[in-house]
Amino acid sequence: MRIIVDKAKCQGHARCWAQASDVFTLDDEGYILPGDIKVALGDEPLAARGARSCPERALEIDGTAAADW
Ligand code: SF4
Repeated sequence: MRIIVDKAKCQGHARCWAQASDVFTLDDEGYILPGDIKVALGDEPLAARGARSCPERALEIDGTAAADW
């Protein structure tokens, strides 16, 4: 699973990080770092919850196969 990050939409709420601090990395001001996130299998449930918790819809879940990355 991959999470597509739209950094321009991020408003620094840190809700994603609160759900899955191992998956989402924020900068010193609480904004998500740019770049898509490859999620390890074991982290997928938490990562999905974190992505859905983003009120700005800055995190899109891409469940396509790893071979497509
Ligand atoms: S929850 Fe959304 S707005 Fe908040 S830090 Fe994460 S990506 Fe940014």
